[in-house]
Amino acid sequence: MKYLLFSLSTLLLLILTACGGASSISVDKNSVSFAIDGGEENVSVTADGSWNVKDCPDWVKTETQEGVIIIKAERNETGAAREGNIVLQGKSNVEATITVKQFSKCTHITPASDEVEFEKEGGTETINIDTDGSNINVEAPDGFSATFADGVLSVTAPTNEEGAKRGEIKLTCDNQSATIYASQKGSICPTCRGTGKVKCKSCGGKGYVTHAYSDDWEDDYGCSDCGGSGKDDGSLKLGSGRVKCPDCGGTGH
Ligand SMILES: [Zn+2]
Ligand SMILES: [Zn+2]
Repeated sequence: MKYLLFSLSTLLLLILTACGGASSISVDKNSVSFAIDGGEENVSVTADGSWNVKDCPDWVKTETQEGVIIIKAERNETGAAREGNIVLQGKSNVEATITVKQFSKCTHITPASDEVEFEKEGGTETINIDTDGSNINVEAPDGFSATFADGVLSVTAPTNEEGAKRGEIKLTCDNQSATIYASQKGSICPTCRGTGKVKCKSCGGKGYVTHAYSDDWEDDYGCSDCGGSGKDDGSLKLGSGRVKCPDCGGTGH
């Protein structure tokens, strides 16, 4: 009985192939990729007749069901990434191709750039990453977020209401790693941290300067650069020890 069923189904398939070979075949994915561990992927097939699997890489197994092809790959033990094509055929000149890739152990993570910079308004920037790793782990510092997909790292920074930010984004996979330096301009001046003032260089913030005339004769003078005046004969007026920030002109922004 089993044999009969088999024969019947084979016959049916032959008839279908002979008479009903699809004149159009399309697939919902032209490529599938597997991580080093392998797995299973389904691709939907739309055809107006019967089709069969004409070509398939030897490291891939397929199973066909109504309107779908199930693609399976074992763990990749070859030590190298691999790629091949599955070709579906309807009528003799009607084909659809699905490219199958499988990653191996990650051998490199190479960013196209090792820095990403944002204006204070923030936004999203992308960096192409050349890698054969399939499960790249991404760590972003505070104030930034980062995701990796299909060879592209997307880094996002929200509007920065504070001081300038810097941080390192780490990409790791197996024994490989890469660092990308992220920075964002801030809404406040990083030199004075928004205060608009910095320590007076002339007096080191003391508000006065000392002049020594000899070993036993010196006078303190109010630092004129930060608003002081007079000397220590009773007229001394200390300076504030702070001067306008040279980077922001005192605005703090
Ligand atoms: Zn400043
Ligand atoms: Zn001063």
